[in-house]
Amino acid sequence: MYGNPDKFYEEALEQAFGKPVKVESASSIGGGCINNGVKLMTSEGNFFLKWQKGIPEDMFEKEALGLKLLAGARIIKVPRPIAWGMMQGRHYFLMEFIEAAPPVRGYWADFGRALAAMHKDNSAGTYGLDHDNYIGKLPQPNTKHKNWIGFFIENRLEFQLKLAMSNGLVSSDFVERYRKFYEKLPDLLPADRPALLHGDLWSGNVMTGPDGKVCIIDPAVYYGHREVELAFTQMFGSFPHDFYAAYEEVWPLEPGYDERVDIYNIYPHMTHTNLFGPSYLGGVEQVLRRYV
Ligand code: ADP
Repeated sequence: MYGNPDKFYEEALEQAFGKPVKVESASSIGGGCINNGVKLMTSEGNFFLKWQKGIPEDMFEKEALGLKLLAGARIIKVPRPIAWGMMQGRHYFLMEFIEAAPPVRGYWADFGRALAAMHKDNSAGTYGLDHDNYIGKLPQPNTKHKNWIGFFIENRLEFQLKLAMSNGLVSSDFVERYRKFYEKLPDLLPADRPALLHGDLWSGNVMTGPDGKVCIIDPAVYYGHREVELAFTQMFGSFPHDFYAAYEEVWPLEPGYDERVDIYNIYPHMTHTNLFGPSYLGGVEQVLRRYV
């Protein structure tokens, strides 16, 4: 960081608490894809502070809203958002620091059951959300739809395709086959009721909390088909088997889920293409070759 980091921490804390807060220690936390992060031990308690320059203005505000929605479900722990804003030209986000304890026995099964309960008990009248948010630092529109496939095409597949087109990442032949695939979706994807989703559930966003159970961070929340969430967990290698078995004990999936994983994961493959480059298009091509 340029400038005096302690001054930055103190100013962010003062903005958050409306009074000076003494920083007793600051230790940097790595591991994030996008942000800088630090654990602050202060006279007001321990906090996680992250910051970034040049990100969308309301990105941390939307992350805070997402965390609040998940917290409202009262099933899986999330960090409590405390304050967000702009300090010394950087966007910052201050939240509860999650102190990890050793994982409980049956950690993954417990998480599987909890996620199924969250999906099952938190529904909405439509797919989408009352606001748009972000996935990573990409915009994620959540325009409401009664119909899941309509929602998935417009807000997920087509939106990311347009982004990739404007970034010059896809050929016209790819675009044609990709859009042709939309016609196949009604025969491939089952209906289900909208479920509250974390929206970006990969292992990097799963931490262990002070009770030794899962705590989830960095959401991209919306109401969607629950299979999308499970498919997302398989994007970079799956979670342990116990997680899926326990999920299905609470709320079984429709037959044929395994066949649908790659279809749902066109979305993260496209977001990764737009964030990190076209090497991720391979995962999309595989699906197009199979169905188009
Ligand atoms: P990204 O840069 O991908 O947005 P984050 O900045 O949210 O990621 O998180 C980076 C790392 O910081 C995480 O992998 C996790 O280890 C740690 N972390 C995130 N939030 C907290 C928190 N509230 N308490 C403690 N550690 C956290």
